[in-house]
Amino acid sequence: MESEVTTAARTLRQELSGSDDAGRAMADQIAELLHRADAGQDVDADLIEVLSTEPAVRSRLAVLLPPEDGERSGYSPLPGLSPMGGPGSPAFEGFICPVAECGYRYPVFEAGEEPPPCPRHGCELILAV
Ligand SMILES: [Zn+2]
Repeated sequence: MESEVTTAARTLRQELSGSDDAGRAMADQIAELLHRADAGQDVDADLIEVLSTEPAVRSRLAVLLPPEDGERSGYSPLPGLSPMGGPGSPAFEGFICPVAECGYRYPVFEAGEEPPPCPRHGCELILAV
């Protein structure tokens, strides 16, 4: 099974390939490592090293990777509300309820998709960053 780092790196490579020269250079490095990952090598450490050289990319990686146990205190998804299945779900990209303690999340599968209102508050969801 593919590691979470590899999955996140694929997403980041796509995002970077559409950015500036430095971003594309990093995308090339990531592509190289992903190629090795496809060949069955464990490149997680190398990927993290490349992705950590740029602070903006590193923080984006932190968003894409699922939180580890004990990290992000106060993070407690409400069971039954997340269509992605709550804890252990893959990297989250999408919309969240603006009410901090609500925790409702709506993942985006296609660009431009309109999220439904929060089922608990009826308010518009905001883009998660
Ligand atoms: Zn809500």
